[in-house]
Amino acid sequence: MRKGLLIVVSGPSGCGKGTVLGKIDKDKLGLCYAVSATTRAMREGEVDGVNYHYLQESQFEKLIAEDKVLEYTKYCGNYYGTLREEVENRLAQGQDVLLEIEVDGGKNVKRLCPDAVLLFIAPPSIQELERRLRKRATETEKVIAERVSQAEREIKCAKYYDYIIINGELEKAISDVSSVITAEKISAQNKEKIIVEVLNS
Ligand code: 5GP
Repeated sequence: MRKGLLIVVSGPSGCGKGTVLGKIDKDKLGLCYAVSATTRAMREGEVDGVNYHYLQESQFEKLIAEDKVLEYTKYCGNYYGTLREEVENRLAQGQDVLLEIEVDGGKNVKRLCPDAVLLFIAPPSIQELERRLRKRATETEKVIAERVSQAEREIKCAKYYDYIIINGELEKAISDVSSVITAEKISAQNKEKIIVEVLNS
């Protein structure tokens, strides 16, 4: 059985990656999303186990000590991490798994899994990013300022990514992300796995 494809999507807070990823047809693309763990507070409308696994700091640190976290980072004062159980078995079973994580996590995943495909979603400009963060009205001014300066750092890291998709017009960004994933699933990098799959089915 072929091993699944690991897809990492990053992009600064407010670039619209949540909206883009919410709109791509993940069933048609044959993707499952890994649910990360975090110690940040739940936002209105979010659901435990769907958007994140919401943990206390001590619970998160226990998972790290038990080596149950594939990668993690501290972002704006909170832990965020990918749980091994959300990823490893699925990939081994041939499922394609998508991680939505920040850039340090993306770099770590590429180091741990060199076959992973890294996609970066960028806003058209920093001004537009700030406008979108304000419109979302889920964070205080202090957190917005922190996230804007973090965004500038993250955008510079996009050079480590395989693809950069500008989210100016939402429909175009959805179509670009879907096209990249479709192409990667049938790419030359996967050809050995695809041949084995064809011969064994
Ligand atoms: P938010 O608080 O807006 O949901 O997420 C803040 C940042 O944390 C986003 O850039 C998001 O992609 C990132 N993030 C979410 N889950 C993970 C994770 O498991 N690992 C890492 N490294 N970053 C994550």
